[in-house]
Amino acid sequence: MRSSTIALVGGFLCLCANVVVAGEAANFKILKLEGNSVRWHRVAQSQPVVSYSLVSGLREFQGARNCRKMATFDGLTSSSNLAQAAVREEIAAAFAMWEAAAGITFREASDPATADILIGAQGEPEGWAFADVFYDAASTEEIKPILRSLICLNPAKTWKIGFDGDLQRYDLRYTIAHEIGHAIGLDHPNGAGTIMGYRYEEHFRRLQTGDIAGAVALYGARGPSSVVADSAAVDGATDSNPGHPLSRDANNLGSRALKARPN
Ligand SMILES: [Zn+2]
Repeated sequence: MRSSTIALVGGFLCLCANVVVAGEAANFKILKLEGNSVRWHRVAQSQPVVSYSLVSGLREFQGARNCRKMATFDGLTSSSNLAQAAVREEIAAAFAMWEAAAGITFREASDPATADILIGAQGEPEGWAFADVFYDAASTEEIKPILRSLICLNPAKTWKIGFDGDLQRYDLRYTIAHEIGHAIGLDHPNGAGTIMGYRYEEHFRRLQTGDIAGAVALYGARGPSSVVADSAAVDGATDSNPGHPLSRDANNLGSRALKARPN
């Protein structure tokens, strides 16, 4: 089992390329882990049904990087003065956006221990938000199956619901939606203008064209006759997007991270 960590960073200034090449069909990038594309797999020719849950207590995940230790959202919600019910609604809304976009279904897990995607607060606060993706590296499938994903937020940051122009306080729905994108197999595309963009911005709170195109490339279009794109289409989308520089933790083969911008 291999894992990867991907961070959402933020700030006022974007020094990265902010240009979508003319003629480029859609701005998205498929996540590559050690050269492998990954996705949640279909079961019996049906679209994947992926469960999610908030962690219910302190959890440790061997092999994970930034989400290695996760705690409940209790501290995060109280320090950010957010109601837990409202936070749960934001998480559900973030999953609903992706579910509406492509052939993948999400449901809240009845037991957090068995959830496919686990969400929690970082036990060792760093950066803003991260996703760890575990996948079956030994699979013979061309697009390897994701086994579990972790989403962790820094409880030492102040979080909010909605936009107010303050880019030092992140909107929960936007952030969770971004991390879900990683959790289902998407990376940061070039430039801005998508939820999957490398930097936090407050110009849109819904999935953008590139986000949806990425999800459709992995899971097919929403609908009973969902057809998953062939691997050639997925690879093609990746090759046109070199992406942002990645740093590799040499002590943790298979794990990688994008460093958060220092505040
Ligand atoms: Zn990210």
